[in-house]
Amino acid sequence: MILPGATLGVLGGGQLGRMFTLAAHSMGYRVVVLDPDPHSPAGLIASQHIQTGYSDHAGLQMLGDECAAVTTEFENVPADSLEFLERFCVVRPSADAVRIAQDRIREKQYINDRDLPTTPFDDIYEIGDLRSGFEKLTPPLLLKTASHGYDGKGQIRVDTLEQAEAAFEKLGNRPCVLEQVVDLGCEISVILARSASGATVHYPPGENTHRHGILDTTIVPARIDADTSARAVQMATALAESMEYCGVLAVEFFVTRAGELLINEIATRPHNSGHYTLDACITSQFAQQVRCMCGLPPGATDLLSPVVMTNLLGDLWHNGSPAWETILEQPRANLYLYGKHHARPERKMGHYNCLAGDVDTAITLAGHIRGKLGF
Ligand code: AMP
Repeated sequence: MILPGATLGVLGGGQLGRMFTLAAHSMGYRVVVLDPDPHSPAGLIASQHIQTGYSDHAGLQMLGDECAAVTTEFENVPADSLEFLERFCVVRPSADAVRIAQDRIREKQYINDRDLPTTPFDDIYEIGDLRSGFEKLTPPLLLKTASHGYDGKGQIRVDTLEQAEAAFEKLGNRPCVLEQVVDLGCEISVILARSASGATVHYPPGENTHRHGILDTTIVPARIDADTSARAVQMATALAESMEYCGVLAVEFFVTRAGELLINEIATRPHNSGHYTLDACITSQFAQQVRCMCGLPPGATDLLSPVVMTNLLGDLWHNGSPAWETILEQPRANLYLYGKHHARPERKMGHYNCLAGDVDTAITLAGHIRGKLGF
């Protein structure tokens, strides 16, 4: 067990790294952040900020020498860098686990190979592969880059082979997945934590709504039947077991109108749809990340209250700083801001959690605040 007083490291200094740092600090650990951005939200509050690129071996070695254990806050840290770090300290989740989630082709194949369902898809390595993809799938389809896509970026909806060929070029002639557009009933996610000794706990599934491909709200408990909820948890757990995963894992699902459950993607880290755990659960997903990487048992995941999390995107700053009193004057709402310097449109700047005795009241409160903020 790595106990308070030790130093922990995180690759990536975004909002997830910041909330990890806050959780680790409050538990008595020192935190070193590695991120090239001098203004990274986590770097600003860490005990130490190694300001360098994710492939810089000297910087990685400095991190590894300094820390008892290192984790990551986003998938795009090269798995090779995690593998390099494994020479110096405990790395959780492992490079192998992160590698699976870094590439949509590898990820979907891995999931299907374990008899778990994804949307029907075909892997596209070159433009000529699109024809056979169209023979196997029924439009409308989505062409998504295999790597470095997020929040609906790097994906184009296509109806014809010609459109797909143009889209493939527009996406940079890079490996892609061609994916069936499914008839969505709703989207849910399951966040779980698996300890170094294999003890697994899961949070209640969250129901996710999106705007322009970006997560907008997470509603908990999700308004789905008990059987769908149990199946989602079972699939997420099976995946974590098969990966021999250690850490916090997020599994996103599509629930089709016909009631089918399909895995959309996984994240080998805490997830935006788990921010509700900061206020509504005994152990937050970030405290859980600390526990898992330190070889401690996972904390309890009980939901203490229905909750709605709402993201605050940079668009809200178009007239300067938003009227924060709108949130702060509400006794059952908590505001989180990530300390980002520039409020670009669509950039995740913060979120707020609304808690209430029942989910409908939490939804009403979240909507009331949104209306007053004007988004
Ligand atoms: P992704 O980056 O793959 O998570 O996609 C972002 C969002 O786009 C998802 O959360 C869905 O709302 C939507 N989306 C992505 N893929 C599909 C699909 N195959 N069918 C329907 N909606 C999708």
